[in-house]
Amino acid sequence: MKAQGVGGLGGPGGIFKIGQSLSKTVKSNVLFKNVAGLNEEKVELLEIVDYLKAPNKYKAMGARVPRGVILYGPPGTGKTLLAKAVSGEADVPFIEVSGATFDDMYVGSGAKRVRDLFAKAKKLAPCIVFIDEIDAVAGKRGNKFIGGGGGVYDQTINQMLSEMDGFNTSDGIVVMAATNRLDSIDDAILRPGRFDRHIQVGLPNIKDRVEILKVHSKNKNISSSVDMEDIARKTPGFSGAQLENVLNEATLLAVRNSKRSVVTSDIEEAIDRVMAGPSKKSHRMSDGERRQVAYHEAGHAIAGLYSKEGEVVEKITIIPRGQAAGYMLSAPEKQETFIKRKDELLSIVVTTLGGRASEEIFYGLPRVSTGAANDLFKVTRLVTDMITKFGMSDKLGLYQYVPSEGTINPYKNQYSEDVSRTIDEEVSRIISEQYLKAKQMIIEHAQELKLIVECLLLLETIDRNQINHIHSTMTLPPEAIKMKDKLRSEGKTIDLSPDSDVLIY
Ligand code: ADP
Ligand code: ZN
Repeated sequence: MKAQGVGGLGGPGGIFKIGQSLSKTVKSNVLFKNVAGLNEEKVELLEIVDYLKAPNKYKAMGARVPRGVILYGPPGTGKTLLAKAVSGEADVPFIEVSGATFDDMYVGSGAKRVRDLFAKAKKLAPCIVFIDEIDAVAGKRGNKFIGGGGGVYDQTINQMLSEMDGFNTSDGIVVMAATNRLDSIDDAILRPGRFDRHIQVGLPNIKDRVEILKVHSKNKNISSSVDMEDIARKTPGFSGAQLENVLNEATLLAVRNSKRSVVTSDIEEAIDRVMAGPSKKSHRMSDGERRQVAYHEAGHAIAGLYSKEGEVVEKITIIPRGQAAGYMLSAPEKQETFIKRKDELLSIVVTTLGGRASEEIFYGLPRVSTGAANDLFKVTRLVTDMITKFGMSDKLGLYQYVPSEGTINPYKNQYSEDVSRTIDEEVSRIISEQYLKAKQMIIEHAQELKLIVECLLLLETIDRNQINHIHSTMTLPPEAIKMKDKLRSEGKTIDLSPDSDVLIY
């Protein structure tokens, strides 16, 4: 193909700027204080701000700073905003480009755009290069259409990797990228020395939503009668962008109705509009669903607290993430150990089954939900591994029926149908035994579980300290009490009963 280097259909500078980087350079005036919430994320980015301010300091010390940072999470959660804030805080240029820009029909033009982009960055350094929707250029190979038998796509990626591999610490270039899903990114991109910092940016919890609403109220004429905590309570699952949109719509409504300032009813109407909005995707979890998710997650917490070698539950939340309605983050996800003991593995099984166990106990068997699907997947895999790989079933003994991962397979699943049946029976027996344990723990500690449910419904996300507070004092933590008092002052109560149709009455 001869497209390379051609001036382009519109001539040089025409509409079709083949081979040009199509990036936009701005001086960002966003600061961390303009980004509401996301405190942990900001802390993680401070080092990069510091580096951009004085790259030579790092060079002198021989320190290796991250070259690439990937921000990942649902759309509208402030990934671009955070990247701009890093640029604003460091007072360095912000070069912005969309990953889709590199997707080009001409062989080599994607790679040329990458080259141009980094040439520009070197001239402007210290600076930030921000690649939005990086999955468009660095998605998993094979997942997308690959033009010219892999040529175009690979050339573009390879060019980007070789540019990044070529940086020096003193260059002062940090590449930040955003994507909705980390698991859609090609592994080669995520290796050390490339995009090796991964920062998750999730949907805001109720406290963060209040902050975001306050940030975006500043330049709007909003009546002092509007209670932002009340608005935050009515917008579970909303992203920062949606909240900003709500306030905008509300202001438009107020103007349309010739009001002097925005009042609560305007905002409520705007919430409905944004929810119904163009992206029908953002359907809201019903109140009843939220309560059931809270019972499920609290079940994990209780099973974790009371299983002997239990995992430390770091955080539980009822804010949806990806496919999961709620989720629990336990310590081993952060802290890998080298070996695991049988009692520890069984405790993980109990903790993981705690969600369904709680649903069964509080809602009854006919009303258990699909929320446990991923838990059951994890448990089935783990228990199967225990008995087929780790020799942890007395009945099956020390024979390894399935080779450990990464080994060359000398005994390719050669076991009899009898053994196969025994494996199934053993997996099922062990899971049932642990499930029974989880249910016993939950029955025994039902009061404590209900406190966790209440705390989750008040705060949406609760961390290890708050769980420990409940565990050791059998009272709600101060933040939750504050929220509860606020509700009470409005004459409202949270209904914990699984049989109730409403959540707050
Ligand atoms: P993403 O890059 O994650 O899709 P953006 O950073 O583009 O999301 O966010 C879109 C808009 O939503 C921002 O410009 C801002 O108005 C608003 N927004 C999102 N998150 C926040 C936040 N944490 N604080 C303040 N505003 C936010
Ligand atoms: Zn679960």
